[in-house]
Amino acid sequence: VTQAAKKASRSLSKWLAVTVVGLCVLTLFLVQKISYLSAAPGKDKECEPLYPNNISDKSTTMALTETPFMWLQKGGVINDASCVDQTSVYGVVAIESEKDIADALQFAQSSDLKASIAGVKHSMGGHAFAKGNLVLDMTRFNAIQINEERKTMTVQSGATWHDIQTKIHPRYAVSAMQSTDIFTVGGSISVNAHGMDHTVGAIENSIVSLRVMLPDGTIKRLSRAENTELYNLVVGGYGLFGVILDAELRLADNDLYESSRKIISYKDFPEFFKTQVQSDPNVGLTYTHLSTVPNSSFLDEGIVYLYTKSEDAVPIEDIPPLGEVSSVSLRRFVMNLSKYGGLFQAMRWWSEKYIEPKMESCSISRNQAQSSGEACLVARNEPMHDSVPYLKNSLKKETDILHEYFIPRDNLVAFIDGMREIIIENGTNLLNASIRVVNKERGMLTYAPEEAFSVVLYINQKTDVAGHAAMKKVTSELIDLAVKYKGRFFLPYQLHYTQEQLHESYPNIDQFFALKRVYDPEEILTNTWYEKYGKTI
Ligand SMILES: Cc1cc2nc3c(=O)[nH]c(=O)nc-3n(C[C@H](O)[C@H](O)[C@H](O)COP(=O)(O)OP(=O)(O)OC[C@H]3O[C@@H](n4cnc5c(N)ncnc54)[C@H](O)[C@@H]3O)c2cc1C
Repeated sequence: VTQAAKKASRSLSKWLAVTVVGLCVLTLFLVQKISYLSAAPGKDKECEPLYPNNISDKSTTMALTETPFMWLQKGGVINDASCVDQTSVYGVVAIESEKDIADALQFAQSSDLKASIAGVKHSMGGHAFAKGNLVLDMTRFNAIQINEERKTMTVQSGATWHDIQTKIHPRYAVSAMQSTDIFTVGGSISVNAHGMDHTVGAIENSIVSLRVMLPDGTIKRLSRAENTELYNLVVGGYGLFGVILDAELRLADNDLYESSRKIISYKDFPEFFKTQVQSDPNVGLTYTHLSTVPNSSFLDEGIVYLYTKSEDAVPIEDIPPLGEVSSVSLRRFVMNLSKYGGLFQAMRWWSEKYIEPKMESCSISRNQAQSSGEACLVARNEPMHDSVPYLKNSLKKETDILHEYFIPRDNLVAFIDGMREIIIENGTNLLNASIRVVNKERGMLTYAPEEAFSVVLYINQKTDVAGHAAMKKVTSELIDLAVKYKGRFFLPYQLHYTQEQLHESYPNIDQFFALKRVYDPEEILTNTWYEKYGKTI
């Protein structure tokens, strides 16, 4: 009996030891995985390049002359938000004044170099640089001046929306910008960005005038009424016609909004928008998230976010200062975990549907707004003050890429049906899908020649050869689908399309490139996009 008991106890101890070791290993693995998925990038994220030929193995030979401007980088490689556009450049100049811009353009001309203009480089196709170019980094050129009487602001083009909001809050808000605040004004005008304000539409609608330095150093004022042709080329012109010095932009009131959500099917979205959003002048901001849960509500169920002007008011001094995004590591973890498939996508969607509404920050309570009730209010600047730090990560050999398609409003449902099929067939790892609203927008390269809904996709890809090939295939199929439904794709993203696809979406493209050579005959200003599509015509 004793021996049998001893044996049993030995095997129990063994079993316990194995279990404890197993649990330790599992805990260690989980801790490592959680910290990997939630870690911020320590330095620039490393990805395998999409165009290895853009990286030169020769180092740049710099002109020996003294330069009147400051170098941020001599030679070397730069990249953009895609992480896969590593490109060797001649150097990067820190722009701090108009004189720096004129000097840099002059230096490029006299040194037989091409130049590019860079904001925060969140375009994803090398639009802010090109191989061997001199790059003008505009981010230090960022003064902001409020013109109370005109209810406008004049901002130098390197200012970011984040800086602007911090400066104009709590009295004013930005009229039109992207749905996040990280971008520069120059980069935003050069793609004619749009965001959550469906009434204003693209940023062009908020421009009073621009001052632009042409490649020969002359300065011109542009607006809808002055130098109109050049205005229509510079807005949405990808930095090919001149350097935007500053912009006078209309300011909006920092209205108080009551936030709400409505869960609907994508099929009902166009009607819902017409009857509940467009027809209600009090709805100030809106956007819609579509489910990305595979085999379930995939691209069917949607959450419409609405910000409706409140009748309540608070004294301006009671509007709290703008805060930064909270729980960054947790948000990053949840986003990155969802890359691992259905269960995690389902958890994220469930949390967006049921947990987030409970955690919603309520900066201004109804009490403060001299009314009763439980709903909370936010100032207009708040939902637009998101720097999305959680989208940056240190995950290896993968990246997240944006796509955007502008579809005439009546064709949205058919487009989403086709898109769903393409994404499922390609096994694409879709992380986010949202719908925004644009109106009929101006500009020679307008993406919306008629009122449209835009469908924004955030897709995870491997950065190896197979990953790039898969992204190219799905991009090409989605562009063809957009064209089938009389839509257009957005140009600041990856260059996976053909000349034919570019022409189908942008019938004015030949004229645009021809006028580029009229305004910049020596083609001083170039970028990777122009080098690929503009020069070969
Ligand atoms: C996470 C993410 C979210 C996004 N969300 C949205 C969105 O909600 N809505 C939307 O419309 N877009 C969106 N975009 C796209 C974004 O608006 C563009 O990529 C925009 O150009 C980014 O601004 P930037 O400062 O990074 O410009 P950059 O990428 O640095 O430059 C973009 C172009 O502008 C030119 N340029 C920059 N500064 C000047 C200047 N001073 N004068 C002349 N040309 C100049 C550059 O040469 C380049 O061709 C998003 C992109 C990312 C990565």
